[in-house]
Amino acid sequence: MKSHAKVVVIGGGVVGCSVLFHLARHGWTDVVLLERDELTSGSTWHAAGGMHTINGDPNVAKLQKYTISLYKEIEELSGQATGVHLTGGVLLAATEARLDWLRGVVAKGRYLGIDLEEISPNEAAELMPLLDPKQFVGAVRNKEDGHLDPSGVTHAYAKAARKLGAEVERFTKVEDIVRRPDGSWRVITNKGEVVAEHVVNAGGLWAREVGRMVGLELPVLAMEHMYLITEDMPEVAAWNQKTGTEIIHAVDFDGELYLRQERGGMLMGTYEKANKPWSEFQTPWNFGHELLEPDIDRIAPSLEVGFRHFPAFQNTGIKQIINGPFTFAPDGNPLVGPVRGLPGFWVACGVMAGFSQGGGVGLALSNWMIEGDPGADIWAMDVARYGDWATMAYTNAKVRENYSRRFSIRFPNEELPAGRPLKTTPVYDALSAKGAQWGVSYGLEVPLWYAPDGVRDEFSWRRSSDFDHVAKEVAAVRGGVGLAEISNFAKYAVTGEGAAGWLDRMLACKLPKRGRMTLAPMLKDDGRLIGDFTLANIDDGEWFIAGSGIAEQYHMRWFEAHLPKNGSVRIEALGQKLAGLAIAGPKARDVLAKVTRADVSNAAFPFMAVARMDIGMAPCLVGRVSYTGDLGYEIWVAPEYQRAAFGALMAAGEEFGIGLFGSRALNALRLEKNYGSWAREYRPTYGPLEAGLDRFVAYGKEADFIGKAAALAERKQGGKLRLRAFIVEADDADVIGDEPIWFDGAVRGWVTSGGYAHHAKRSVAMGYVPKEIADEADGFEIEILGKRHGARIQSAPLFDANFERMRA
Ligand SMILES: Cc1cc2nc3c(=O)[nH]c(=O)nc-3n(C[C@H](O)[C@H](O)[C@H](O)COP(=O)(O)OP(=O)(O)OC[C@H]3O[C@@H](n4cnc5c(N)ncnc54)[C@H](O)[C@@H]3O)c2cc1C
Repeated sequence: MKSHAKVVVIGGGVVGCSVLFHLARHGWTDVVLLERDELTSGSTWHAAGGMHTINGDPNVAKLQKYTISLYKEIEELSGQATGVHLTGGVLLAATEARLDWLRGVVAKGRYLGIDLEEISPNEAAELMPLLDPKQFVGAVRNKEDGHLDPSGVTHAYAKAARKLGAEVERFTKVEDIVRRPDGSWRVITNKGEVVAEHVVNAGGLWAREVGRMVGLELPVLAMEHMYLITEDMPEVAAWNQKTGTEIIHAVDFDGELYLRQERGGMLMGTYEKANKPWSEFQTPWNFGHELLEPDIDRIAPSLEVGFRHFPAFQNTGIKQIINGPFTFAPDGNPLVGPVRGLPGFWVACGVMAGFSQGGGVGLALSNWMIEGDPGADIWAMDVARYGDWATMAYTNAKVRENYSRRFSIRFPNEELPAGRPLKTTPVYDALSAKGAQWGVSYGLEVPLWYAPDGVRDEFSWRRSSDFDHVAKEVAAVRGGVGLAEISNFAKYAVTGEGAAGWLDRMLACKLPKRGRMTLAPMLKDDGRLIGDFTLANIDDGEWFIAGSGIAEQYHMRWFEAHLPKNGSVRIEALGQKLAGLAIAGPKARDVLAKVTRADVSNAAFPFMAVARMDIGMAPCLVGRVSYTGDLGYEIWVAPEYQRAAFGALMAAGEEFGIGLFGSRALNALRLEKNYGSWAREYRPTYGPLEAGLDRFVAYGKEADFIGKAAALAERKQGGKLRLRAFIVEADDADVIGDEPIWFDGAVRGWVTSGGYAHHAKRSVAMGYVPKEIADEADGFEIEILGKRHGARIQSAPLFDANFERMRA
């Protein structure tokens, strides 16, 4: 074993081997993979080997498509068979709601280049002869489904990597990982030590234990998972003989089942409701090529449905039941990327669909390590999407929920209950008493809307029980004044004598003067967005930044990686050390003036001003800015004072009819101002010109801000895309995001977000289209639930296009 390497990859499952291959293919060949046993000795060896392109997140779907396309290449490069059978498959819907969901999947496939087609149950039965068409209302055909040999694929990655110069050390167990003073890592094994610049934790079933070696508690949990293999079935033999092809894959969502042919019989797996975690606290190191005891009672309810939906199963025997563990993150997507606070330590774990996702994970991680950027939008897999709230118990609750809902529909207005409430603010009980319906954002309970007694969300793809109530909240803001809790923003304090210079380099905007705020895009080296913030200059050496709450860890990882080593700049993520309230609407100033002695007249406290002031008895930081696009104020307050500030504002607002509004109303309000938001409109694949944030980029400023050269190039070349707001001729359903945008009969773009703008009484969608068509007046359509609706670009905001209200 070598004593030094650029990279040590820990774990020889499909994911570790893919990472090794991709690093070597990308040119880093001084890389070694350490495996405590034979390759495949975790989850990999007993996987069912299914692969598919569909995923709830379009960016993960793209990486799944890449993974499947890779198998031919690694087979050729390694000479190792991967056993890939690209059979195609059918996705089956037994209810209308499921069919609506599937139509959304087909629609997304149009701009992702995934070939999906809606078919009838009878057409599905012609493709997959074992199903009873009477049990289904519709289906989708997917040509890119199939299965493979899990061990063959893993060895093909490893052999291909070796051919490119990488090394693989089997029976080499990593026992500890220690940081050296120069920042490199001592990887201590049972066979000696390797010093490495980078370490990748691809420990699969033991990823938690490997993480603990560096003081990290990763939110992953293994679950038991069962599939059965039948005896040979005459129906299978007859089909094979008649068509000369295998029986294709099937996913029966309402039965929570997946099926495929396995030799002369069938394989049927299920994500059972009564699921069971495995090794909740500590994975035993002596677990290897072993299986767990099957528990047929646990999967019996799903099998019953399966036997009804696929009657041929009633006449066959079960040859074997496989029960094996594999790991999940709380939302079921992988954990990938660099870990904040541990430079050179990377994770590629929690991969629950290694044969659909392993290639994409390897590609993204190797790009990130070598180029400094994953090269794709991988937010849905980024380890930074979790913070300290993702504790072991939280992970346990959420993974179990996610597993039991693997094939369940999640409606756009459906909030999942497990692991909640966890983080709450001091006004939580007061808002609950007013009917707050809670959602969750980065672990924090967030009011979505306020329901009268007896009214709750009815889960639907269409406008639902909240519609009229959200409309009232919007009317309260536009007609008088509303109050929202906004503690879910990320808040950062930046201090130190180097703060201004550092911010000037980090952020693409011009720095605001003392007592002023500005919108502040942040760019990566390639000139694309990595953040959009509000930056406030409180007192020169003291700066305050507000940004997207879900990206707190993501942004801190970026900020900290760019801090000067001399300690001249300090940045702190304030998390819930600061709570937030917002008031907005034409009467907002009247309310504020009643509770503070500060002069908040337009002359003394104009749009984009910021100042400390007391609200009632509570000391606050107040900025004159509002995401509603109305006259409004964002108020930042220490949690111990939030109730007092809330009480003072509500009491002062009474005479103006102050109403509470939640994040759904806020969405409706910002849509009629064409305001985008992070992780929806603004993502790391778009340039500021494309995203319409170029007006906040100080291209000419003296400071050489990160991404400046690339941003200037984008401005010169014009980028490829444009963000646009559309008015949609919708019926009873609005866009939720990820719908295709048609132009002249072809899919040309995608929706990033939208909804119903209650004040303007319009259905609005925001999305990206190629710049060549971005100023066309006609010809657009947006597909919602399988139907195309006319749409037109709304370039001037629907509300207050001249910014008079905001600046009044
Ligand atoms: C019953 C079942 C059916 C499945 N079916 C499918 C399917 O159809 N399709 C699909 O895509 N996925 C399926 N999966 C999931 C799939 O198996 C996983 O996604 C995949 O195996 C994860 O691979 P991995 O490399 O991340 O982890 P693992 O396979 O667990 O690999 C981790 C490796 O790291 C090694 N290791 C850990 N710690 C150390 C250390 N300290 N030192 C050295 N080595 C270490 C381990 O020995 C192990 O070999 C199934 C899983 C199960 C259990």
